[in-house]
Amino acid sequence: MSTIIYPSPIFGPVHSRRLGISLGINLLPADGKVCSFDCIYCECGFNEDHRPTLPLPTRELVAERLEAKLKEMNTEGQLPDVLTFAGNGEPTCHPHFAEIIDDTIRLRDQYCPKAKVSVLSNSTMIHRQQVHDALMKVDNNILKLDTVDPIYINKVDHPNGTYDVAQIIDRLKAFNGHVIIQTMFMRGEAAGESVDNTGEEYVGPWLEAVKEIKPQQVMIYTIDRETPTMGLQKATHEQLDEIRDRVIAAGIPCSASY
Ligand code: SF4
Repeated sequence: MSTIIYPSPIFGPVHSRRLGISLGINLLPADGKVCSFDCIYCECGFNEDHRPTLPLPTRELVAERLEAKLKEMNTEGQLPDVLTFAGNGEPTCHPHFAEIIDDTIRLRDQYCPKAKVSVLSNSTMIHRQQVHDALMKVDNNILKLDTVDPIYINKVDHPNGTYDVAQIIDRLKAFNGHVIIQTMFMRGEAAGESVDNTGEEYVGPWLEAVKEIKPQQVMIYTIDRETPTMGLQKATHEQLDEIRDRVIAAGIPCSASY
């Protein structure tokens, strides 16, 4: 079973061909996972298997550690290309997420003005005005929309509270294009049921929602690491390419990661 629990509040940098040098900011505790979803494909494992004992990092601690790391990287002459909010769960669950974004933008401007600020989020907190406004300030507002089928969402993403996909789509539209949609496509089974969302019954309605949202970009991807649920399979290159090409044909830039 896969369980990648990231250090907190700063981890990396990670060198990626796609992003360059990415410095991670993890707003969750260092010894467990906290998320408003509990995806069957989560690389951090299931929530109940990784209950943290440590508190969330404070706003002050995040700023202090980020500044120290940026100073260190500056001394080494290797500044980040991107500051990425990701890690052990959902970053927008942090009660001071908006203030932390302001601190991060200030430190970015001071130490590495060319770096982008990216947030990877599952979209469950975008109804909060403060979260919306903070995400409008970041360079890459990357929000998850795995499907528009409520049954599939409950089966695969396991939202902790109410998740109304129509409301989520409305809130995604409210970014007026300042949003990148990220979608996981996969095949296989979980608990004896298919979790394949690569068929037309899923892709067609999802694509219609994407067209309504009018994002600046779409990123589609598939399982890359071990998952806490057995029986999941990667979507094929051909399937991802075909979905990507349909998004592009709709006039929206799209990348596929295999
Ligand atoms: S939203 Fe992300 S962090 Fe949360 S359970 Fe799903 S994959 Fe894991």
